[in-house]
This record gives sequence, C-alpha cells and structure tokens, in this order.
Amino acid sequence: MNQTAVNPATLYVVATPIGNLQDISQRALDVLAQVDLIACEDTRHTGRLLSHYSIKNKTISLHDHNERQRQDYFAQLLTEGKSIALVSDAGTPLISDPGFHIVRHLRGQNLNVVPVPGACAAIAALSVAGLPTDRFTFEGFLPSKSTARKSKLAELADETRTMVFYDAPRRAIDTVADIEEVLGGERQIVIARELTKTFETVHADSAKNMHAWLSEDPNQLKGEMVLIIEGVLQDPNAISSEAISTLKLLLGEMKPKKACAIAAEIHGVKKNALYQIALEIK
Ligand code: SAM
Repeated sequence: MNQTAVNPATLYVVATPIGNLQDISQRALDVLAQVDLIACEDTRHTGRLLSHYSIKNKTISLHDHNERQRQDYFAQLLTEGKSIALVSDAGTPLISDPGFHIVRHLRGQNLNVVPVPGACAAIAALSVAGLPTDRFTFEGFLPSKSTARKSKLAELADETRTMVFYDAPRRAIDTVADIEEVLGGERQIVIARELTKTFETVHADSAKNMHAWLSEDPNQLKGEMVLIIEGVLQDPNAISSEAISTLKLLLGEMKPKKACAIAAEIHGVKKNALYQIALEIK
C-alpha cells in the first residue's frame, strides 16, 4: 500500500485510539510519521503511542492552558509551508479535548485544516448502545456536583433525542441516582465502560435497575465511561401548541373539518385528534 503523502502548510487533526492501540488508521500513522511537528495534549502520553509504532518525530505540547499562546506560532509554521499533526491523549481532538481555539484561529486565516478521522468514545458507545441513533445530542461532561448535575438533567428533561455524556465511573452511582430523581426510574440508560480495553462493559437498563446493578459491583466504578440516556418518548397523538394556534387561526376563517385537515397537514398530526380540540374551541 502506498504511504499517504503529507501536504505542506496543513494542520492535520488526527484521531488516536481510546484504549486498544490497534484502533488507528494507516493514514494516521503515515501522517504522524511525516509531519514536521506533532502537537500533543501530553507529549509523554503520545510518546507511548509513537514508540509502539516506532515513529520518531518532534512533539510539542498543546493543552487547554497554552492553546491560545501557541496560535500565532502555529499559523506562522503553516505559512512557512510546514505541516503539523494535532492529537489529544485519546480519541478525536476537540471532542471534550483541546484544539478548538487553534482550529478556529487557523481556519480564520484561511489556513488548511484537514481531519484524519478515527476513534471517538461517544460515537463508539452510541454504535453499540441500541438506543435510537437517527438523532442524538452530545452533551460533553456532566457536572461533578449533584446540584449542578440535577439542573443540567432538568434542562434536558423534555429532550426527545438520545443524549450522550462523558462521566467518571466513580460518580456513576450518584449520577444514576440523580437521573432517577429528575428523569424517573423508568428512563432507559446505557453505560459503556472501558471501550476497546480488557474490561469493556456495555450495560443497558432502566435508571432504577442500573442503580442496583452498579451498587452490587464495585468493578463497574473504575476506568472511563460514556453514559447514554434515551430521549423522552414522544406520544404519537400529542398535539403541539403550534398546531393548536394554527387550528385556532383557521377556525376563524373556515369550517372545522377543513381547518383540521389543513392544520393536520401542516403539523403532521392526526385529523381526528385535532377535530376533538376544534369542538372544544368552538
Ligand atoms: N476526545 C475523546 C474522544 O474522542 O472520545 C474524549 C476525551 S475526554 C477528555 C475523555 C472522556 O471520554 C472520558 O472521561 C470518558 O468519559 C470518555 N472515554 C474515553 N475513552 C473511553 C473508553 N475507552 N471507554 C469509555 N469512555 C471513554
């Protein structure tokens, strides 16, 4: 297979494994071997990945505390025609990891920023959770304090999309207790722990049962985890307030039967359910 050629004047945003070191693409390895510089969240951590693949290359730190200071230096290197790879400790950079400020800065200067995709814990967890994936929301880390966590969950109480969070397993019992309290014990959740590693576990259950399961097995409170919460189930007969407003407007202009048919068409709801409401309005 031909080695990927690295373009000059380009920042490559390179995904690295989230556990199993084999989960990295050949293209990512080629890029890491050939760029002029690798910007790492932690140079020692990335050093282990590089040495596993016998890659010897220059590294520089790029983390939350120096990202803004490094912006101009990186822009200058790219302008001089140099190529840079950006990696985080695990998974896809910028996803709850450093890199956003630098990418925005470089793109703002019309410099070339190219993704080298690969592992991401949120997407890996979602791909095996068995919860709807047609629409989902990524919420990053849940707050570590219970009061803030409960208010975050309360904000999301009516969310119909699947919700994906990062959280620490050592807090899992408390987090699940908060889910039970705020969203109800019947809400379905999935815990995906230690993905791609020796103790990989993916467990799905109601919040109530998950609480009991976690309490019985202290091993489930170790390592790293993704928490997924099922969105609130939509009642197929529920009529939105927008549909009722449309119906009211139309009822002022035409007979109920026609008003219901038009409002049903606009809002994608059942005519019969609207007819009941139309009778009440009249
Ligand atoms: N950028 C990374 C990505 O693409 O997934 C995420 C970085 S964030 C700082 C680290 C969090 O990701 C962990 O606290 C955990 O919630 C999740 N995570 C990372 N690796 C994981 C794994 N192997 N199994 C489960 N969750 C993991």
